[in-house]
Amino acid sequence: SGPVTVLDSKALERALTRICYEIVERNEGLGQLVIVGIRTRGAYLARRMALKLSSLSDVDVPVSELDITLYRDDLDPNEHRERPQNPVVSDNNVPTNLAGKTVVLVDDVLFTGRTVRAALDALVDTGRPDRILLAVMVDRGHRELPIRADFVGKNIPTSLNEAVDVHVTEVDGEDAVTIRKV
Ligand code: 5GP
Ligand code: MG
Repeated sequence: SGPVTVLDSKALERALTRICYEIVERNEGLGQLVIVGIRTRGAYLARRMALKLSSLSDVDVPVSELDITLYRDDLDPNEHRERPQNPVVSDNNVPTNLAGKTVVLVDDVLFTGRTVRAALDALVDTGRPDRILLAVMVDRGHRELPIRADFVGKNIPTSLNEAVDVHVTEVDGEDAVTIRKV
């Protein structure tokens, strides 16, 4: 059996809009808000959220991006077990002074939590924001760290032999979330 659509383009758009209203509810005025997307697809979702949030308020909500690269730390070359890959921030255009700011970190899929952890390290080290919130389009479960999202488009309990595909118009020509067996 082929991929199953979990969110079509209208549902994905509704989820983004709903998350933006939830962010507005949690922040008195949006003046201190900064949106930070994790490339690739999280960054496109972040840009759209910044536009929606700007149109919901009278301020321009700034958006920036982080790039995360996976490193396999082969500490013991005799160890044959697959080690988890270690994500680190490899590039970003996030402001270095986020004092007084509330950052909403945005990604497409939350899985083990390791990517978000790397992003949080970088934000805390370089920008020192007052507060960080996490928004993801899909929470697929299987966390390996104590990390949870504040805003979730769709909770999709998955098995490890399923993959979630988040399609965004900017890269994939359409918006959708699908799951498939791998
Ligand atoms: P984590 O670091 O939480 O294990 O994985 C999250 C990161 O890997 C996100 O940046 C996300 O883009 C990617 N990712 C992990 N699992 C999936 C998945 O099932 N589907 C997609 N599209 N991305 C995933
Ligand atoms: Mg990613």
